[in-house]
Parts: sequence; C-alpha cells; structure tokens
Amino acid sequence: MGSARIAVIGTGYVGLTTGACLASLGHQVTCVDVDAAKVARLAVGQVDILEPGLEELVSRGLSTGRLSFVVGSRDAVADAEGVFLCVPTPMGAGGAADLRAVEAVIDEVADVLPAGCSVITKSTVPVGTAQRIRDLLGRTDIPVVANPEFLREGTAVSDFLNPDRIVVGADDQDAARWVADLYTDLSAPSVVTDAASAELVKYAANCFLAMKLSYVNAVAELCERLGADIASVTEGMGYDRRIGRSFLKPGPGWGGSCLPKDTHALVQVAESVGFDFSLLSAAIQENIAQRDRIVAKIAGAVGGTLAGARIGVLGLAFKAGTNDLRDSPALSVTAMLAAHGAEVTAYDPAVGGELPGMRVVDDPYQVAKAADAIVVLTEWDEFRKLDWAYIADIMHGDSVVDTRNLLDPTAIMDAGLCWLGLGRPRAG
Ligand code: NAD
Repeated sequence: MGSARIAVIGTGYVGLTTGACLASLGHQVTCVDVDAAKVARLAVGQVDILEPGLEELVSRGLSTGRLSFVVGSRDAVADAEGVFLCVPTPMGAGGAADLRAVEAVIDEVADVLPAGCSVITKSTVPVGTAQRIRDLLGRTDIPVVANPEFLREGTAVSDFLNPDRIVVGADDQDAARWVADLYTDLSAPSVVTDAASAELVKYAANCFLAMKLSYVNAVAELCERLGADIASVTEGMGYDRRIGRSFLKPGPGWGGSCLPKDTHALVQVAESVGFDFSLLSAAIQENIAQRDRIVAKIAGAVGGTLAGARIGVLGLAFKAGTNDLRDSPALSVTAMLAAHGAEVTAYDPAVGGELPGMRVVDDPYQVAKAADAIVVLTEWDEFRKLDWAYIADIMHGDSVVDTRNLLDPTAIMDAGLCWLGLGRPRAG
C-alpha cells in the first residue's frame, strides 16, 4: 500500500510508538492527546518516556512532515482513512476494563468521521468492544477493526517494527485487510480474523504470560523448600521447545500497566459469560502470595522484624529499561515494608522525585548507607556492577535480598555479604 492518512488518538507508550513508527513506514500521521502540555512538548520533539529510538523517530517524522501533534480529535480525524485508538483502558470497578476513554473519543468523533474511515482499536479492549463502538457510532459506513498491540515497554520501537505477528480482526474483512496492509513493509506473519477473536488474542496471550510467571514463582518457592535450584530447573525446562526459555525467571511478582489489569479483565469477561476461569484467578492469587513471601524473606533477613529496620531498595520501575512505575511490584513491596514500620531508602536509575513511604535518592550507594538489608527489586544491569565490597563497608547489616536473581552470588559472598535469591541456595 502507499501512504495512508492516519490519526492516532492517545500519545502514550502505545500511541506515540504507533504514530512515530507508522510515519516511519511512510504514512501521514496526526497524533492526538488531551494533554495539551504533552502535545506541545511532542510538537518540538520532546519525548517524556524512556524508549530507545523513539525520540529519533519522532524528530524524523516532524522534520519530514509525516508526523504532527494536535489537541482534540475532531480536526485530526476529518480526512483520515484510519483512526487508531490508543487511549488507556485501566482496571475499573470489579476488575473489568474501564472503557470510558474509548467511549469519550467515539463520542467526540462519531459525526465527523469521513465515510469509509476505519476505527481501529489498538488499546487492549475486551471482547465485544468492536460491537460496542459500532453501536456508539450509530453508523454503518465506518468499519471497526481490532488490531491489538503487543509491544513491550523498554523495547517499544523495535517490538513495533519487528513484531512476532500482526493480529487484525473485523467483521468487515476488507477493512481488516486494509489495516493489515498498513504494515506490509514489516516482515511479520499476520492473523486476519473476526473482531472477537482478535480482541481475545491479546488477553489470552497476556494472561498466558502472567500464568507462566506465577507458575515459575511457585516453582521457585518449591525449590527453596525442597533444596533444588531454580536456575537449573528453569534451564532444564527451557530447552524444551514447547516451553521455551522466556518468562521463566522468578521475581517479586508480575506488574506493570498491562498484566494486572488484563488478568482481572479476562476473569471478569469469563464471569460475564458464566465461566469460572479459576486457573487465571489462581495465577492472580499466586502473584499476591509472592509479594507476601518476598516481604517475609526481607523480614527474615533483618532478624524477623521489619519495624525500625533500614531497608535499602535497588530498583523501583516495574522492569528494567523503563521509568514506568504503574503497578510496579517494587512499589507494592516497598509499601508493605513501610507499612510494617521499615525505613525505606530507594534508588532507581530511571526514577527520581518524591514517592510515598520512602526516601528516593540519586546514588545507589546512598541506599546502602547504614542499611540493615539491601533488596534488589528491578533487574537493572548496572546493579551487577556495583562495588559490593564498598557496600559491605557502609552497610549496617549483611544481607542482600535479590528478588530478581540478578547478582552474582559469589561476588556478594566475596564482599563478605550474604546473598539471598529466589529458589536458590543462599550464598554467604
Ligand atoms: P498511556 O497511559 O501511556 O497513554 C495514554 C494516552 O492517552 C495519554 O497520553 C493520555 O493523555 C491519552 N488520552 C487519554 N484519554 C484521551 C482522549 N479522550 N483523547 C486523546 N487522548 C487521550 O497508555 P499506554 O500504556 O500507551 O496504553 C494504551 C493502551 O494500550 C491500553 O489499553 C493498554 O492496555 C494497551 N497496551 C499497552 C502496552 C504497554 O506496554 N504500555 C502494550 C500493549 C497494549
């Protein structure tokens, strides 16, 4: 296909990446947001989020004139051939997806969309949303297409441009193919299907990943109790091509802006059609239990009681490579530590400013000063390279609780400290 005229509504992780990448593929893209200050920054090439390559793509799009930023959707969609909805769909009452932002956009643009223009959901939306949008639009000349996005924060641009697959679903197959063709320059397999199936692919995939993580966290706990080593267990499992090696690392529980809300939303969707998705509910429960176990492990490392204990935290972002704190397990764990009376000092290379229940510092060694224990909560590579002998000198206690199994246990032990990982024998 040649160049298409596209409007992208919402300029967050998904919208900005979609807009900048579609412009780089030759399309003419107008990005919209309700946040006027953000639009003003983007219009001069300033990107707030930490995403390798994104600022460059935005600058290139601005300078070629293929990318522009505006406030308000009505003008942006007036001559569009496709409108991508990339607005938030957070967890709403009872765990179901809150579709108010999607509905607000549809309400805003319904009467100005040109005939034949496709409305495309890139936001993660529950099965039935395409139909709901059609009902809200009240027009038969606007195809609604589901095109879920699978990019990961921290690698958003490269994931968008090198996807494992493109999923497009619509009841109007011509519209679905038109959307699939927007990506023809990307060499990825595409699944062109009906709207309900495309909407479900995203939830089914994300929930599978969440279950995989809950599973490996539970196996790590079993390793601790049985005297096995999760590193060997997952290595042995991962060679099995039916299982694969990814998403097999234990951690402080899964989080971020997607997995928690998407797992709850799918449980709700299942309930709405009379199906008790107990397998998924158990994965959510296991994730809560994991955080409790992590806090208990930290308490054990400081002699059993957290009240008054000084805990130095390394890592706050929900994963390395991003400054996103939304639903970060690190924040849940630090909140629980603070609630038990611990004094928390935290450092994250991508996070600054004030956060409740802790003192955030801008130097990793400051968290170690007089700490009774150090806790690694995000897998930033730079934590491996810290001067652990120096840390041992300035700490008060001697325990390093590594909830990501990130550090080299021998290096920690050689520094005179005690390394406590997940599902692995302690060192020191
Ligand atoms: P985000 O919070 O980073 O960005 C959303 C943007 O939409 C914000 O800039 C906000 O100001 C804007 N917005 C809100 N209401 C608006 C409106 N009425 N009109 C115009 N703009 C509006 O969100 P995100 O992380 O990009 O997620 C967006 C959607 O994509 C969600 O459904 C999410 O589940 C899905 N998703 C996210 C990821 C991810 O890794 N973040 C990956 C795949 C899918």
